[in-house]
Amino acid sequence: MRFDFNNSRVYVRQSWLNDLVICPERARFKLAKPNMSGPSDATIMGTALHYGIEQVLSGESPDNMAKLALEHWEELKTKPFKVTNLDPDAAVEQIESMATAFIDDILPTVKIGGDIEHRFSFPLNLQIEGWDVWCEGTMDYVDPDGVIWDWKTASRSYYAKDKQSQSIQATVYASAIVYERKLEYPVDFRYGVMVRQLKPKAQIVYMRRTEDHHTWLMHTVKPAIQTALRLGVNESNWLINDTSALCSSKWCDYWSLCKGAFLSEHSMSLPLQGQPVEISKEKN
Ligand code: SF4
Repeated sequence: MRFDFNNSRVYVRQSWLNDLVICPERARFKLAKPNMSGPSDATIMGTALHYGIEQVLSGESPDNMAKLALEHWEELKTKPFKVTNLDPDAAVEQIESMATAFIDDILPTVKIGGDIEHRFSFPLNLQIEGWDVWCEGTMDYVDPDGVIWDWKTASRSYYAKDKQSQSIQATVYASAIVYERKLEYPVDFRYGVMVRQLKPKAQIVYMRRTEDHHTWLMHTVKPAIQTALRLGVNESNWLINDTSALCSSKWCDYWSLCKGAFLSEHSMSLPLQGQPVEISKEKN
C-alpha cells in the first residue's frame, strides 16, 4: 500500500490483497517491515522463467529460452534468497523442463505482438475516509486482443474452479484492462502454468471476469483499507491466520516475529503416535 498525500490517493497492489486474504498480519508486516521480505529458491526459479519468456515474446528464438532462463537464475543465485523444501540438485533440470513445457504447450496459444510486463494503475471509484483508492501492478502479458496472461511456476497443477471463483489477481487485472482500453466485460484471463518437475508439464487455466467480479473487488478492498487506516501498521497486530500452508518458517518471512516467537519447532512436532504423553508433575 502506498500513500500519495498530494492527491489524497492510496494505491494497493493485488499481491498485497492476496497476502491479506492468506493472513492479515502477514499483510501488515509487509507494510511495516518490507525489508524482511525477500526471494526464495522457488521465487527466483519463477523469476528466471519469466525472464526467458519475456525474451521469447520479444523475438528471441524459443530454442534459447532454457539457456537464457538458466543464465538469469545463476545471476539471481548470487544474491541472498530463502531456502525452502526444493531439491537444489534438481533445479537445472526443472528449469529446462518448465521452459520446454512453455514452448511446447503454452506458447502456441499465445498471440504475439502484445504488451510485455505491462504496468497499470486505475481508480477503484472508492473513497474511504478522504482517500481515493487506486489499484496498481504489473501484468506479465496482454495480447493485442486484450487477453491477459500470467505465467506461473508451481509444484502442481492448479484447481481451475478455485482460480475462477477466488483469484483476486484475475479480477484486478481485468478491471485494469477494462479501464485502460475502454473494453467491455467479460475479460479473458489465463494462467500459463509450468509445473516444477522433471517431465515437462504445462497447464492453461482459462478464466473469465465480469463486472460483478469488479463490484465484489470493491466490496472486499473497502474493509482492508479501513483496517489499515484505522489500526495503522506499526501499533497493533492485525487478525492472525496461522492455518494457511504458508504459515511456516520456510514460507513466511515474518515467522520469527510472529508464530516462531511463541512456538518452537519442538512444540509443533507431533508426539510419537500411540505413546501417551508423560504428564508433568505438579509444581510445588
Ligand atoms: S507466521 Fe503465520 S500467522 Fe504470523 S504472519 Fe506469518 S503467516 Fe501470518
